[in-house]
Amino acid sequence: MIPFLDLKAINAMYRDELVEASTRVIDSGWYITGNELEAFEQEFAAYCGTKHTIGVANGLDALTLTLQAWKELGRLKDGDEVIVPTNTYVASILAISAANLTPILVEPDIKNYNICPVRVRQAISPKTRVILPVHLYGRLADMPAILEIANEYDLLVLEDSAQAHGACVDGRKSGSWGDASGFSFYPGKNLGALGDAGAITTNDDSLAETLRALRNYGSHEKYKNLFRGVNSRLDEIQAAMLRVKLKYLDKELQHRRKAASAYVDGINNNKIILPVNNLTPNSVEFDQNVWHVFTVRCEQRASLQKHLTEHGIQTLIHYPIPPHKQQAYEEMKDKNYPVSELIHEQVLSLPIGPTITSEEVRSVINACNSFGD
Ligand SMILES: *Cc1c(COP(=O)(O)O)cnc(C)c1O
Repeated sequence: MIPFLDLKAINAMYRDELVEASTRVIDSGWYITGNELEAFEQEFAAYCGTKHTIGVANGLDALTLTLQAWKELGRLKDGDEVIVPTNTYVASILAISAANLTPILVEPDIKNYNICPVRVRQAISPKTRVILPVHLYGRLADMPAILEIANEYDLLVLEDSAQAHGACVDGRKSGSWGDASGFSFYPGKNLGALGDAGAITTNDDSLAETLRALRNYGSHEKYKNLFRGVNSRLDEIQAAMLRVKLKYLDKELQHRRKAASAYVDGINNNKIILPVNNLTPNSVEFDQNVWHVFTVRCEQRASLQKHLTEHGIQTLIHYPIPPHKQQAYEEMKDKNYPVSELIHEQVLSLPIGPTITSEEVRSVINACNSFGD
C-alpha cells in the first residue's frame, strides 16, 4: 500500500536528533515556556522573515487568539465581519465564531482554489474589519491583490498559513504578508510536531505582547492578569521537536515539489483535472507552492478513489463537506456557494510527502492514467 502520508517514516529520518532533543528537555527539568520555546520562536521568525513568533497550543488557537488580541487592542469588537473563503478547513471559520465575530464566506477562484480577490471586494460592508485568506493546499492566496484591498478599506489581514509553511511569492514567505498569520504544527502539516502545536507570526510589537499574555491566562507577570486569557502554550518538548524538523523543512519542500512536478508531467488522463491551471513544472509559481497536498479533480471521484485503492494507493478528500453544509453552521445551510460545492464534490488528494519514492510516484501516475480504460 502506498500511504497518503507516512508520518512514522518522516519522523524516523530524524530519530536520533529527536531523541537527543527530547532527552535534553527531560533532563532540563523545565517543561513549559523555557529556552526551547524561545529558541524556536526566534528560529521560526527568522525563517518566515517576521519580527515575532508566538508559540501557542495549536493552529486553531493561533487564529482565535489573534482575533481576540485585536479586540483587546481595540481594533475589533463583537459582531465585526471577517471575510474568509468558503473552501477551507472548518477551523478557519471556527476561529472567527470563537472570537464572537461574524464570518462572511467568499467563493474561491476555481483556477487555484484560493479566495477570489474580486469577490472579496464585493463582500465588503461597513462592518468588515478583517480579511482571513487561507493558503489552501500549500499555495499562497493572491496576497498582493488582497493587501491592496485591505489598504484601500483599512482592513486587518490574518493569514491562515496552516498548510503553507515556506510557501512564498516574490521571495516573501507565507506568514509575512498579513498583519499576522496563524500556523499549525499538527503532525501531518508540512512542519509537524509530535503532538499539537501552533504559532502566530507578526511584525507588530503590541500584538505580539498581547498574544504572549493571552496564551498564558492573560498574564505577563505571575498572578497579575491583564486580560481574560487562556492556557494555550507550546510545550518545551514540542518546541524541541520543531527545532529539529525546521532545519530540514526546505529540503522536504524540495522533495514534495519533485513529486508534484512528476505528477504534473506524468498524469495524462482527460478525466483527471490537475491543480495546475497556469502552473506548469519549473515555472516560478510552481516552485513557490509547498504542496501540502496534491489535489486533483474528477467528475467520477468515487470511481477514481476506488480504482486507486484497488491499485494499492491511499487517497484522501480535502474536504468532503464544505463548512456551510456542516451542522455546526446550520444558519448557513441554505447559502449557495456553487464553486466551493463543486470543489468539495470533485477533489481527491494523491499521496505526497517528504518520504515518497520515485517508484511510488510512478505507480500513482500509472494508476491514474489507467483509470477509465
Ligand atoms: C490544520 C488547519 C488548521 C487548524 O490547525 P490545528 O493545529 O489542527 O488546530 C486551521 N486552518 C487550516 C487551513 C488547517 O489546515
